[in-house]
Amino acid sequence: MASQTYRSTRSAVDQAVSFEDAVMTGLASDGGLFVPSTIPQLPASFLDDWKDCTFQELAFNILRLYISSSEISDTELKDLITRSYSTFRSDEVTPVKVLDKSKNLYLLELFHGPTYAFKDVALQFVGNLFEFFLKRRNDGKQGDARETITVVGATSGDTGSAAIYGLRGKKDVDVFILYPTGRISPIQEEQMTTVEDKNVHTLSVKGTFDDCQDIVKQVFGDKQFNETYHVGAVNSINWARILAQMTYYFYSYFQVSKQSDLPVRFVVPSGNFGDILAGYFAKEMGLPADKLIIATNNNDILDRFLKTGRYEKSGEVKATYSPAMDILISSNFERLLWYLVRNTVTKDDNKAGEILSTWMSQLKTSGSITAQPEVLVAARADFDSQAVDDVETGATIKNIYTTHPENYVLDPHTAVGIATSLSFIAKDSKKNYISLSTAHPAKFAEVVNASLSGIDGYSFEDKVLPAELKALSTKEKRINLIDEASLEKVKSKIIEILNH
Ligand SMILES: *Cc1c(COP(=O)(O)O)cnc(C)c1O
Repeated sequence: MASQTYRSTRSAVDQAVSFEDAVMTGLASDGGLFVPSTIPQLPASFLDDWKDCTFQELAFNILRLYISSSEISDTELKDLITRSYSTFRSDEVTPVKVLDKSKNLYLLELFHGPTYAFKDVALQFVGNLFEFFLKRRNDGKQGDARETITVVGATSGDTGSAAIYGLRGKKDVDVFILYPTGRISPIQEEQMTTVEDKNVHTLSVKGTFDDCQDIVKQVFGDKQFNETYHVGAVNSINWARILAQMTYYFYSYFQVSKQSDLPVRFVVPSGNFGDILAGYFAKEMGLPADKLIIATNNNDILDRFLKTGRYEKSGEVKATYSPAMDILISSNFERLLWYLVRNTVTKDDNKAGEILSTWMSQLKTSGSITAQPEVLVAARADFDSQAVDDVETGATIKNIYTTHPENYVLDPHTAVGIATSLSFIAKDSKKNYISLSTAHPAKFAEVVNASLSGIDGYSFEDKVLPAELKALSTKEKRINLIDEASLEKVKSKIIEILNH
């Protein structure tokens, strides 16, 4: 195999960046995202050869196609995968449940990792990758000669805890997570602040999530601070996160195909477009998926694009029942646009980079871009979409709970996906629908309780809350309070802690 390299979506030249550099830098220097210009193809016999593989074996087969063995050997890659998924509570890592056999509706449970959210699937692996690369770079070095990384991120909930659990205890890495005081759920705060590892630091900032995110952006833009402390990111634009997520598309495809011959559709609750983009790669590699269906809440920029071909910001972010999908723009969508433009408008990688670069600055200044008709046609060949509002989200949680033989409880993000699945099933029932479940319902107690309280026999404590999460409330919290949403105050706190 020729070595696999990566290029920026906004560049008119191929920088041929290594996997290691793509992962460790996160964002390209021109502001673009890293993509492999050629998507590797599956071996012709993969449907037979891979169908009985474990999750870990599939992960190895897939990741191997995207990472040159000169960068990570077979033994090293297997070890990284084994360790990353040993923290999951399910042997299958991402098990598939039958939700309604009569409708060919399946649920792919992605929440069996340490923080009970789908982001663990990627971040457990990314944390180990960071450690692996740093260890190699620091081999034989002592003290100040060692390369260190200071990961700084803002969270409104799920990302922060998944990043903390991915990076806890990793050598030469410190992680600082900012969150708005009093504005994340108690369980989410407990998950982040009860971790005892010395390299984990939570900053509770008096302000909003947007304030936190602004501060993080400014920290990244602060050249001097960056050079001194080597600020790193693990947000959803990191290529390794997309890569690690491909595995469960294959795994669930095989599980469901053993039960039914119908074509398979994936339905994915989407925000930043990272989760479903992994499905696009799987499909482009040759996984015979019929369609990828985007499920959004009322922050529906993706649904509107699929309907109109216009990718357009709409006013302010709306606070919904599914907060992890409350976004104005889906950052990973840029990657899909690059492929669509490259495959249709121009067959030239570099020209595609030029077009994307223009589009992205246009999006920033005017708030919208309009794709060529052939780009939209290509998008619709692989994707379909639907937006679901809060009323329907709550009703879906209730409807599944009351009709499922075991009173299955959906989290609100998963419910957006199920509502979407059900309306597609009503239009086309001759398909298997794999609906991705992105979080455990205990993480979103307020919405789940609002939908289910009062139903005979329902109890959050007994029916929903896992003992492990319940136990968190008795643990000691470590919080650094920042009494003002101020860049200077955050920076000096980080410096104080790092120099301690
Ligand atoms: C992050 C997240 C999503 C959205 O995933 P994207 O990759 O941003 O599209 C959906 N549900 C939950 C629970 C999440 O944490």
